[in-house]
Amino acid sequence: MATTALERKLLIAGEWVETGDWIEVRSPYDGTVVGRVPAAGAGETRRALDAAEQAMRQPLAAHERAAILDRVAAALAERHDELARTISAEAGKPMKAARVEAQRAVSTFTMAAVEARKLAGDVVPMDASPAGAGKLAFTLRLPIGIVGAISPFNFPLNLVAHKVAPALAAGCAVVLKPASQTPLSALLLAELATEAGLRAGWLNVVCGPASAIGDVLVEDERVRMISFTGSAGVGWGLRERAARKKVSLELGNATPVIVAADADLEDAAARLAGNAFSFAGQSCISVQRIYIERVVYDAFLALFLPLVESLKVGDPADEDTDVGPLIAQSERDRVLSWIDEARAGGADVLAGGELEGELLRPTVIAAAPPAAKVASEEVFGPVCTVAPYDTLEEAIALANGTRYGLQAGIFTRAVGDALRAARELEFGGVTVNEAPTFRADQMPYGGVKDSGNTREGPAYAVREMTEERVVVLQI
Ligand code: NAP
Repeated sequence: MATTALERKLLIAGEWVETGDWIEVRSPYDGTVVGRVPAAGAGETRRALDAAEQAMRQPLAAHERAAILDRVAAALAERHDELARTISAEAGKPMKAARVEAQRAVSTFTMAAVEARKLAGDVVPMDASPAGAGKLAFTLRLPIGIVGAISPFNFPLNLVAHKVAPALAAGCAVVLKPASQTPLSALLLAELATEAGLRAGWLNVVCGPASAIGDVLVEDERVRMISFTGSAGVGWGLRERAARKKVSLELGNATPVIVAADADLEDAAARLAGNAFSFAGQSCISVQRIYIERVVYDAFLALFLPLVESLKVGDPADEDTDVGPLIAQSERDRVLSWIDEARAGGADVLAGGELEGELLRPTVIAAAPPAAKVASEEVFGPVCTVAPYDTLEEAIALANGTRYGLQAGIFTRAVGDALRAARELEFGGVTVNEAPTFRADQMPYGGVKDSGNTREGPAYAVREMTEERVVVLQI
């Protein structure tokens, strides 16, 4: 059962604001209303930008920013249960995964506080060239300006944290537009930030139609950077339209992993079964394509399939559920149609492929045609494919055969093979003997190819959200 319905308001210029129009937030599991938030439009977004501009006229010192970020981290830890339940209710995320997300948001704010404290430029070795002799130069790292942050539904707290915390660490005010399906966690975070002493205007949250709010963020020149996490189509479209802004993109993936014959197969099977289906595969780095060295293909499946079958499908509010609903019935139907397409192309469905009640069971597909969507596009559902390979070269080519490049993985005991894969897999991150779904919040995280153009993780995001100014002194 979802939690009781609650009402949250928008945060603009330090005020909790209503607009008269409401967006109902419904549980993806049973359709019950779990909350409602006011719907903002272009006018509220412009007011939020006015407030952000006003706030940045009185910069916060690094020690003040760090102290606020630390207090938010402490509040996130203190209100862990409420945050996890809010994430679970609005996103349909099983409590196990929602608890992990809520804990990770504490790390994200803690790491951002560290970055606020050590944000500094460099000394330039001026006498290294004749032109610089007799001069001293250093750089200042200055806030880039107002950050327009747009976040997706699947990590409604921690992906908001990955934008808001580094922006504040960098000294930037934020106008945040959370996903319409999951605005409650973002507004709860905004409440914690306000209680932590963040002054009016530094964080503004507007919910509502993506195009109306997005258009203002794209067109208003005061927004110096758009930080976007979501689907590739929307992200690259924003970048094209906002040619004169910095637009950082964290997009999708069709995550591959290679299991070599010398790997610890039991360990690989356990890690991959968990990470292909957690949150019904709705993570940008959910394991989707598993390539297994042919000599251990059957042995791996004999370990993997029972683990997949044993995952508990059900109510995300139950603490022992592994796999809950997809975010919307239309998404469930899309994923079912992709499974049907693979079947029609000759694929074997080894597990799942059908509903359990209203929920899609964890699905494992063998012999999917390479052009089938489950094998080439981002499924974003509880589906993975398995396929045998003969040489590492072939496995790497198969893994790279996608327009995406966020994270990939390899399980092997051979250090040389692991390092070769790390060099040749065309992805922003490569895990060895760990599922490529792994992320610690201080890591540089982001993709190449269609998966994006930036790295998040507070240290990296702060760099993106500041500009370097050189100061030259004649001495
Ligand atoms: P989405 O449909 O692209 O939505 C993401 C955000 O963009 C939402 O806030 C959405 O608002 C907004 N949006 C949609 N159209 C817009 C427009 N024209 N202008 C401005 N904003 C617009 O993505 P999603 O379905 O929420 O998330 C799933 C995708 O995110 C997957 O592809 C996944 O791989 C990717 N993702 C990537 C990462 C990463 O770090 N690389 C992490 C998580 C998810 P509305 O909700 O109001 O439509």
